[in-house]
Amino acid sequence: MITYRYAIVGGGMAAAAAVKGIRRHDRVGSIGLLSMDRYPPYDRPPLSKQLWTGEKTLEHVWSYGTARSLAVTEHLSTQITRLDPAAKRLFDQHGREYGYDKLLLATGGTPITLPTDSARVVCLRTLDDYLAIWRWGQPGQSVVIVGGGFIGAELAAALVRRGATVAMVFPEHGILGRILPRDLSDHVTAGYLTHGVNVAAGETVHLIEDRGAQVVVRTEHRSLEGQLVVLGLGIRANTQLARDAGLAVDQGIVVNQRGETSAPDIWAAGDAAEIPAPSLNRTVRVEHEDNAVVGGRVAGENMAGGHATQDDLPFFYSDLFDVGFEAVGILRSDLDTVAAWTTPFEEGVIYYRDDAQRVVGVLNWNVWDGVANARRLLGGPVPSTPGPAPTGDVQR
Ligand SMILES: Cc1cc2nc3c(=O)[nH]c(=O)nc-3n(C[C@H](O)[C@H](O)[C@H](O)COP(=O)(O)OP(=O)(O)OC[C@H]3O[C@@H](n4cnc5c(N)ncnc54)[C@H](O)[C@@H]3O)c2cc1C
Repeated sequence: MITYRYAIVGGGMAAAAAVKGIRRHDRVGSIGLLSMDRYPPYDRPPLSKQLWTGEKTLEHVWSYGTARSLAVTEHLSTQITRLDPAAKRLFDQHGREYGYDKLLLATGGTPITLPTDSARVVCLRTLDDYLAIWRWGQPGQSVVIVGGGFIGAELAAALVRRGATVAMVFPEHGILGRILPRDLSDHVTAGYLTHGVNVAAGETVHLIEDRGAQVVVRTEHRSLEGQLVVLGLGIRANTQLARDAGLAVDQGIVVNQRGETSAPDIWAAGDAAEIPAPSLNRTVRVEHEDNAVVGGRVAGENMAGGHATQDDLPFFYSDLFDVGFEAVGILRSDLDTVAAWTTPFEEGVIYYRDDAQRVVGVLNWNVWDGVANARRLLGGPVPSTPGPAPTGDVQR
């Protein structure tokens, strides 16, 4: 059995950030990275953005230099199926055992799927998913995207730019309908229609049928056909390993600001973790890059004896055709909102408020570098002059 000073379960962005965090404090302690993926850690945001626009190529997606340069032993295509915290052991799908002194759980999430055995129905989570969509979503091909959230919206824009014919189908009234106020979501949806996307809003998929050359997606009212169907239905946090091992798990693996779980010598970070959000007086599980990178780095540093904390609420961003945004906090379209537009629907700030009229989320729409200011507003009232207030603090 191999025993690592530091074992990391997961090979995503949080795992990669943790490796770098460990190496800030300990240049020699052994690190074992155990990942179900067959590739070393890579950044996921380019899979729906820059790899399609040509701003990045595959050589730009790797999250850390090389395993050798960081002295990491990678166990790829390795699924950890059991954790024994008392014995400090991990077990993989082949029954192999791994020992550890310090452990990070960075298991991320698994995409939600619909019942189908068609090979032409894919999600977009992994590099292999991206490669499959790239292969099938060529100019002239038709693609049906199920889901109107971030992944669906970004991928639709990417595929249209590439010359594919795209249809989107989702139950909400408009694109990003779960997070944007209705008028803004309607505006975004109108923009997608202008770009030639066939938008079937307010429709739920009942059946997916593979007919060989075509896959048919059926809702109550219509059938949409494509050579490829992409499901962008969100993810479920991978918390089972932690739950089975007796760690505290709620929406995610519960951690404090140092990334420590309820079990000694075990940390968690990224999409699978539930982190404190003191400015909102609650905990949150965040499925975004900033959270994975900062949470992973903080956990890694602390595993190696550092004293780091994840103090700021993570921010997130998206790019859709010619608009983009950055946001912090809770963005839900069922919350009360106050919009401060410089130019309606083109540039401005939207504040999301709870029942007590406190700001719980801020959306900077085509407004850049305002994240630190947005964070400061959380928990307080909407400012009396609520326009953009860039601070130049965050880079991505
Ligand atoms: C296409 C795409 C675009 C995105 N764009 C944005 C964006 O624009 N902005 C933004 O803020 N965020 C974006 N995100 C979200 C962001 O990428 C994620 O929040 C981040 O990657 C989460 O990192 P993670 O390490 O927690 O989880 P993941 O990246 O999901 O990594 C989890 C890892 O754990 C492994 N694993 C799971 N269970 C086990 C096990 N039992 N044994 C071994 N290994 C296991 C998996 O194989 C994987 O390697 C995007 C995500 C996707 C998929």
